[in-house]
Amino acid sequence: MTCVVTKACKGCKHTRCVGVCPTDAFYEGKDMLYINPNECIDCDACVNQCPEGAIFSEENLSSSLLEYIEINAVESQKEGAVNILNEKVKKNVVTAKRGFKRPAKKKVSFS
Ligand code: SF4
Ligand code: SF4
Repeated sequence: MTCVVTKACKGCKHTRCVGVCPTDAFYEGKDMLYINPNECIDCDACVNQCPEGAIFSEENLSSSLLEYIEINAVESQKEGAVNILNEKVKKNVVTAKRGFKRPAKKKVSFS
């Protein structure tokens, strides 16, 4: 079993789901996220974090959303799919480096 991201995710900027995933199973597509079924352990931690109600455990999907099982599997494993947590971590590291100011060296005088 796996969790699945559905169409309500399109255009979301929250990405609250990503931070709670213990297996980094979220991948970024053109306009929404997808869960890699081989990495998801179906822990349901992300389901309640999604303000759009876009994530469902596979067994709770309505029949109109069943196609998203395959869509998530295909899109998350497409060549070029970006692991979103890794990207966020990289961005944070870059931002932290930019904001870092090396303390001025103290002048030491020997008299
Ligand atoms: S799954 Fe939910 S919280 Fe995560 S990006 Fe999509 S809409 Fe936003
Ligand atoms: S159900 Fe758990 S493992 Fe699967 S995507 Fe959500 S948080 Fe990650």
